[in-house]
Amino acid sequence: MQQNSEQSISAKYAVIGNPIAHSKSPEIHQLFADQTGENISYEKILGEKYNFPYSANKFFDADGQGLNVTLPFKLEAFNFVDQLTDFAKHAGAVNTIIRQDNGDYLGTNTDGIGLLRDLKKTLRLQLRDKKILIIGAGGATQGIVEPLLNEKPAGLTIANRTLHKAETIAKHFKKMGDIQSCSLNQIPEQAYDLILHATSAALQNHELELPAVIIGTQTCCYDLLYSDTATPFMQWAKKHGATQIVDGFGMLLEQAAESFYLWRGKRPDTTMAQNYLRPKSLT
Ligand code: NDP
Repeated sequence: MQQNSEQSISAKYAVIGNPIAHSKSPEIHQLFADQTGENISYEKILGEKYNFPYSANKFFDADGQGLNVTLPFKLEAFNFVDQLTDFAKHAGAVNTIIRQDNGDYLGTNTDGIGLLRDLKKTLRLQLRDKKILIIGAGGATQGIVEPLLNEKPAGLTIANRTLHKAETIAKHFKKMGDIQSCSLNQIPEQAYDLILHATSAALQNHELELPAVIIGTQTCCYDLLYSDTATPFMQWAKKHGATQIVDGFGMLLEQAAESFYLWRGKRPDTTMAQNYLRPKSLT
């Protein structure tokens, strides 16, 4: 009797962000739960702008077990948790919070693992000696720089609207590899092998002006943003002849799978999830 009632209580998880309506995380985690036989609930929380602790405490006070954190709260989440993994410490940003048995909150960052798994396993890209450009210098960029540098690219340039944020990230990671920073209108005019778009400009319907010369004959353009239709950056990349154009849905699945594994100790099948959940318009 007791066992049955315990089994029927689902463990509570959520994603918090602002905006949050577009998030596909609930569908993804529900599919992972079905695949692995785990009993979970997973909701979307519209976080209070400038008051992340209020929204996070409210969720955990109501028996929440773990949170995914999306923009603009990854830096606030970093300050909220009691302990940090090395990934989160180096990134200075947290996208996954795990409530531990003693009630402490452990913060980690699965964005870098998610991106690298998608680039290497799904897209079969080799990054060694390649020229990489990241556009944007927010929480997502902070999470992906270290794993990218670990692949020993020829160079990594971060371009951002607010120059000092790109400079701060480049300075922070400079011991790990060849990393440069610049403002959006001073991107070095050369072709890159991989261009990662990591801004939230499209969420405000703002179109970036980028120099076409950064796309060469072999360039892969990867938008961390995902959408049911081609994003503005993907449309721009197509117009300028990029050979490989990808959105961030694969990264989303891989970073979610890593969070799920940390919470539940079971690794979901992301290839099956990709086939099942990927928007049909983008296949
Ligand atoms: P942040 O809010 O931390 O950072 C936003 C970034 O976008 C900053 O670099 C900011 O520049 C830039 N930006 C915002 N508006 C404009 C604009 N109008 N023009 C130029 N630049 C602008 O967001 P995140 O780093 O967390 O997320 C960035 C993107 O990556 C989002 O689209 C998010 O959905 C996506 N993402 C996808 C993931 C996935 O799994 N696929 C995982 C994580 C993120 P400034 O510093 O000047 O303000």
